[in-house]
Amino acid sequence: MNWTERDLKVIWHPYTQMQTAAPPIPIVRGEGALLFDDKGKAYLDAVSSWWVNIHGHAHPYIAEKVSEQLKTLEHVIFAGFTHPTAIELAEGLLSILPENQQKVFYSDNGSTAVEVALKMCMQYWGNQGKPRTKILAFHNAYHGDTFGAMSVSARSAFTASFDPYLFEVEFIDLPNEGNIESIKQKLSAISPELICFIFEPLVQGSGGMLMYEAKYLDGLMKHCRKEGVLLIADEVMTGFGRTGKRFAMDHLEEKPDLMCFSKGLTGGTMPLGITTCTNQIYDAFLSEDKHKTLFHGHSFTANPVACAAALASMDLFMDPKTMTNIERICKRHKEFADKNSINPKLKEVRQTGTILAMEFNVESGTSYFSNLRDQLYQFFLSKNIILRPLGNIIYFLTPYCITDEQLGQLYAAVEDALETF
Ligand SMILES: *Cc1c(COP(=O)(O)O)cnc(C)c1O
Repeated sequence: MNWTERDLKVIWHPYTQMQTAAPPIPIVRGEGALLFDDKGKAYLDAVSSWWVNIHGHAHPYIAEKVSEQLKTLEHVIFAGFTHPTAIELAEGLLSILPENQQKVFYSDNGSTAVEVALKMCMQYWGNQGKPRTKILAFHNAYHGDTFGAMSVSARSAFTASFDPYLFEVEFIDLPNEGNIESIKQKLSAISPELICFIFEPLVQGSGGMLMYEAKYLDGLMKHCRKEGVLLIADEVMTGFGRTGKRFAMDHLEEKPDLMCFSKGLTGGTMPLGITTCTNQIYDAFLSEDKHKTLFHGHSFTANPVACAAALASMDLFMDPKTMTNIERICKRHKEFADKNSINPKLKEVRQTGTILAMEFNVESGTSYFSNLRDQLYQFFLSKNIILRPLGNIIYFLTPYCITDEQLGQLYAAVEDALETF
């Protein structure tokens, strides 16, 4: 039996209809923006392996640091104990975040980083004897697949089976010139009950790479601040350079109370989640009363190997060469976006920093289940490019080490697709 046959006998894949999906492609090696299958065929990873990889696959520097850590300390319980790598990572990350972020809480992935942020906010009010009941989020939001994270995400085909078990959330539209005042009014009407507002800053990833302007988010955040509503910036996808700056929050004046990170945090090497918060949040849990403790933790909290990968990835991220690469991708994407913005086959071309999205015009409207999705996926795969269209929306979210030639390959394939479909 080959790898694919062996896989299908024993494995259930994520977000995959196992009866109808094409068999999985076995990948045995990665280098830079390329992944290689068991026959040596190279694929260009235009989605950074589900948005996590930022410096390229099997990066030798990260590998070396992870290997050193593995030979020194692989894991230690993180309650009652600590370790140098977790401390250095927390110090390093806080030094580049908005300066009001003062404490780091570790978990394992993006969903848990969101769960932790939500629990912190809920208990923040409870600990002060002023419990609140409602959470505010955006329509089309995606914050993860665990129950709390799902609750603050859009209700959709993905959540339908679980909707009765999700807690209630107030949803608002993405802000723009036309609706910002009415959103503020709606918010003011319920603000005494609002625990927090959670949002994906500037780009809603899973919702379809939907983009909105920093100035309106700034306006909304300032309004929340005035009304005493806590702010959670979910930077799980936007963090570490995706929007053209280090963090999406760097495009704004107002600062969030809490931030969530995962995906690019370890350069895509190891699972790790981080929730950061202000001292104001942290202090609300300090008490002689043990009931005010944040009762949350995972077996692998602050796993040293994952922290070593994140620390190594941060070293690379802080190297000026990385920002030069990010700027190069932004510029090339912008040129390509401008060139194609009037193509009648496209409903819209959107770009924020290194993220480029193109929405195909389809009569049936936007749907994750559109047939065009599968056709586009296979079309790009036949050109050795890994894209994962969100319905009729294709997007690039590549490692920053992608070469100019590889970018050219992506653009050429899109131009072919525009002729074909
Ligand atoms: C992917 C994602 C998550 C969930 O992260 P996982 O590690 O997949 O659980 C949360 N928020 C945003 C904005 C994401 O893009």
